[in-house]
Amino acid sequence: MSRFAQRREKIRRRLRKNKVDALLVTNFTNVGYLTGFTGDDSYLLITGKSDVVLSDERYTTQLEEECPDLELNIRGPGKKMLPTISRLLSSVKAKQLAIEANSMTVALHGSLQEAAPKCELMAADGWVEKLRAVKDRDEIARTRVACDQARRAFEVVRASLTPEMTELQVAADLEYQARRFGGKGLSFPAIVAVGARAALPHASPTTQRIGSADFTLIDWGVNEGLYVSDLTRVLVTGKILPKLRKVYGVVLKAQMAAIESIRPGVTCKAVDQTARSIIESAGYGKRFGHGLGHGTGLEVHEAPRLTRGQSTVLVPGMIVTVEPGIYLPGWGGVRIEDDVLVTRTGYEVLTSVPKELEECVVG
Ligand code: ZN
Ligand code: ZN
Repeated sequence: MSRFAQRREKIRRRLRKNKVDALLVTNFTNVGYLTGFTGDDSYLLITGKSDVVLSDERYTTQLEEECPDLELNIRGPGKKMLPTISRLLSSVKAKQLAIEANSMTVALHGSLQEAAPKCELMAADGWVEKLRAVKDRDEIARTRVACDQARRAFEVVRASLTPEMTELQVAADLEYQARRFGGKGLSFPAIVAVGARAALPHASPTTQRIGSADFTLIDWGVNEGLYVSDLTRVLVTGKILPKLRKVYGVVLKAQMAAIESIRPGVTCKAVDQTARSIIESAGYGKRFGHGLGHGTGLEVHEAPRLTRGQSTVLVPGMIVTVEPGIYLPGWGGVRIEDDVLVTRTGYEVLTSVPKELEECVVG
C-alpha cells in the first residue's frame, strides 16, 4: 500500500468511527497530501469503499502518473464538478457527507447542498490537518533539504551584503539563491527589516538601505518542491549597542530553553510558556505579541500551534518552529527562529544557521 493509500485508510477509519458515509476533500493541499497529486483545482471524494479524484482534462496525464492507484473522474470542458459528486454520493447511498468547512467557500457549500439535497453536510475540520501534523520519514527528509537550502541561500546573501543594498534587493537575492540551490522558491515572501522596521513582526521589504541602522532582521525559508523551512536571524551590520545585546540575549535564552523543553508528551502551551516566562521576567512580556511557533510542512503555517491555550501534546514526527521575539516600536525587534523535529527521546534542531550574537556580525 502506498503511503498515500495509508493516509486515505486512516481517513476511512475516521469516517467509520464518526459514522459518516463520505468525506469531500476540497482543500487542494490536503488533496495532494492524500493522493500524491501536485496539481491544482481537484477534489478527492473518500467513501467507505472508494477514493475518487475529480479533476479536469488539463490534469489527466499528470494524475495518471502521480496517482496510478486512484480512480479518476475527469470532466470535459464546460462540465461542472458538482453533478458528478452528486452521482457518486447517491451511488454509495451517502446520507452524511463530511466537508472541510474551514477552507470551503460559502458559495461552494450552498451549491453542494443543492447538488446533494439528501445528504447532511457536516464539518470535519482538522481531520487531514491532524494527520499532516505528524511527518513520516520522507517528509522529514524533504524538510531537511528545505532547511539546508535555506542555510545555503542565506550564507551566499550574507556574504554579499553591502550597506547600499535595500531590503527589497536582499529579499530578491534570497529568492534567487533559493532557486539556485534547487528549491522551488522561497516558502513565503521574505521579511527583510532594517533597524526600527524590525519592530513590525511581518514587515514587507522596502527601499530602506541595510547601512541605515545597526542590524537587520531576516525571516525566510525555502520550499524544496513540496516541503518548506522557516527561519529568522538578526544580522548585525553596525555596532552591537548595549540594548541590542540585552534584548538579543533574552530572546536567545528564551528560544534555547523552549527548544530544550521539547519532547513527546509535552503540551504546545507548555513550550510556549517556557519561552514566555523568560521574556516576561526580563520585563518584555508585553513586547512578545505572538505565539511561540507553528508546524511546518506542505504549508508554512500548519498544525500544531505552539501558543497559549493549545493543549495538543507533542508526538515524534512533528516539526515546529520556535520563534520568540521582542518588538520595541521606534527601536526595532529581535526574533530568532529555528525548525525543530520532535524525536522519540526529545528534539532535533533541523536548521543550522549560527545564532550567537557575535556570529551574526557581518563584515
Ligand atoms: Zn519565519
Ligand atoms: Zn514562522
